[in-house]
Amino acid sequence: MSQDTQPDSPLRIAVIGAGPAGFYAADALLKSDAVNATVDLFDQLPTPYGLVRAGVAPDHAKIKSVTRKYDATAQLPGFRFFGNVRLGKDVSVDDLKNHYHQILYTVGAQVDRKLGIPGEDLNGSHSATEFVAWYNGHPDYRDLKFDLSARSVVIVGVGNVAVDVARILCRTTDELRETDIADYALEQLAASNVEDVYMLGRRGPAQAAFTNPEAKELGEMEDADIVVSARDATLDDLSAAALAEHPDRLTEKKVAMIQSFVDKGLTGKRKRLHLRFLVSPTEITSDNGNVAGVDIVHNKLVEDGGRVRPKATDETEHLDCQLVFRSVGYRGLALDGIPFDDWTGTFRNEDGRIMDDQGWRVGEYAAGWIKRGPSGVIGTNKACAQDTVARMIEDAATGKTLQPADSSPEAAEELLRSRVADLFAWSDWEKLDKLETERGASLGRPRLKFTTREEMVEAVLGT
Ligand code: NAP
Repeated sequence: MSQDTQPDSPLRIAVIGAGPAGFYAADALLKSDAVNATVDLFDQLPTPYGLVRAGVAPDHAKIKSVTRKYDATAQLPGFRFFGNVRLGKDVSVDDLKNHYHQILYTVGAQVDRKLGIPGEDLNGSHSATEFVAWYNGHPDYRDLKFDLSARSVVIVGVGNVAVDVARILCRTTDELRETDIADYALEQLAASNVEDVYMLGRRGPAQAAFTNPEAKELGEMEDADIVVSARDATLDDLSAAALAEHPDRLTEKKVAMIQSFVDKGLTGKRKRLHLRFLVSPTEITSDNGNVAGVDIVHNKLVEDGGRVRPKATDETEHLDCQLVFRSVGYRGLALDGIPFDDWTGTFRNEDGRIMDDQGWRVGEYAAGWIKRGPSGVIGTNKACAQDTVARMIEDAATGKTLQPADSSPEAAEELLRSRVADLFAWSDWEKLDKLETERGASLGRPRLKFTTREEMVEAVLGT
């Protein structure tokens, strides 16, 4: 029976993952005139907001203010939040199928892509994703160790995550203190010996993945000079010809900005951020199992199947360093029982509908990075989520939903309470949020995060 023939019996939807895609989908579902829906939004952490809390750099407070929109969604009738619930551990997909008409996975991309070069697993070689989660106070990463006694650090990749990591390593303690960076990270970064940070782009300035506002910030740091050589900043013939043939204002601006860094020169700041182009790491070298440096090869650019690709030349170089961050993109993590495409690192889907070998899995959907891969800015997830929601509404209208044994909101909550002793509701998060901002205010900081599940539960539920 189609959903619009049952106006009093809402379509019950479970959204798994309370990051941007989850909130945008919840908002679209709850505001839709085409469907009478309720949304239970789940997260494995007691806290909501996904990468806005645990990924966005602490010194980007303005970007984080998008959470106000998510807070408004949480006030819509029909919205419930269930934090501290791990899918696959506390509840299974089959449990959800017993209680919901539709399940939407918005679990993001949680692990890093590998470089596939020798030395990647040495002590001192880390994924940028782990470092980002660590300095942002994610409970699952807070106990990781990063040896910040290193004087020289190499970051592989020139995307916005690499830029975030470089900035955090180069900021002064005073700059970091104004942010909501985790307290232990502030302490360790304040004591760091880092003086030189190298970002390695395998292609040229025209292909750098970072966006222009982020690149601009690199030239404006209080106590770090930006260092770019004329050789690295010069456009190769292929890129210059491509830009001349297809002018692109943003790329031209990016290249001009990178070229303007050449003239800045050293001004005696304590740290140096070196931006390198057309180089790839070939090996992370070792000293007794610890990172000692990175062997790099110079590349030239070649056109290959419509894409500009790096091709190694014979020219090589060695960079001494004691710490390496691999920042070459994220991947989704496979979840038991959900079809996974290992090549793209996403849940197998067509337009957001989860697919397996038999075709579409009725009632199961994906949105955000687990649907399309780790690309775009936060707002990109809005259109992505709305697109999947349109499919969900279409399918509900034609009766293609799961057939839950008991779709009452009470039954779902009862199951969750029987499985998770420290279930977090939205009101619990609101209490935690207030406590974090109060603790921060007493130190002159915007927020002092709780960084373990135990502390969060103790602070709010008192257990
Ligand atoms: P990304 O933008 O895809 O950048 C990945 C970087 O790694 C690129 O420079 C890429 O070079 C390089 N790379 C990939 N494989 C490599 C290899 N084998 N060897 C050397 N370099 C390699 O990924 P990201 O930085 O993780 O960011 C993910 C998404 O989040 C992006 O859409 C980003 O814009 C977004 N984000 C936004 C912000 C913000 O708005 N402030 C902050 C953080 C993240 P090629 O281009 O040559 O492949």
